[in-house]
Amino acid sequence: MHTYCDRCNEVADHTVDALGDPQLTDLLKDLGYRTVCPGCYEDLVIEAREAREQQAEDRRSVHRVPAQIPIRIESTDGVPFAETVTEDISENGAQIRANAELEPGTVVHIAALDGTADAVAIVEVVWHDGEALRAGLRLVESSDTWNRLVATHESIES
Ligand SMILES: [Zn+2]
Repeated sequence: MHTYCDRCNEVADHTVDALGDPQLTDLLKDLGYRTVCPGCYEDLVIEAREAREQQAEDRRSVHRVPAQIPIRIESTDGVPFAETVTEDISENGAQIRANAELEPGTVVHIAALDGTADAVAIVEVVWHDGEALRAGLRLVESSDTWNRLVATHESIES
């Protein structure tokens, strides 16, 4: 008797009952798979991990706190670009008023003018909001001082 992989429909010499793996159960339920071949199983493990990371990302991105914080933006080797303010902040980034030509893809050092927080971020997107220029920054790596800044403003919010 041949067993077919629910994902690639190939005859599978041996299949993996992926429902036995709690990490994959939700993903497989969504996809309607019960039995997959070892190759597809490997792919699905990766997809499940990516889906979890995406969910974590989504949670972080909805976790934005409106806050006007004066910041300084410098190149990573300390050349100043601008002093400006944030529009909102989150653990993984900030939306700022961009009054300098910040190029998407540029890695910058951002620091609160009061010295309480700093982080390294990449300029993800720059857009015009009427007359104003806005930029979305994403932290390259998480920063404890930045997280504290977000937490501080979050408690002010609530
Ligand atoms: Zn397969």
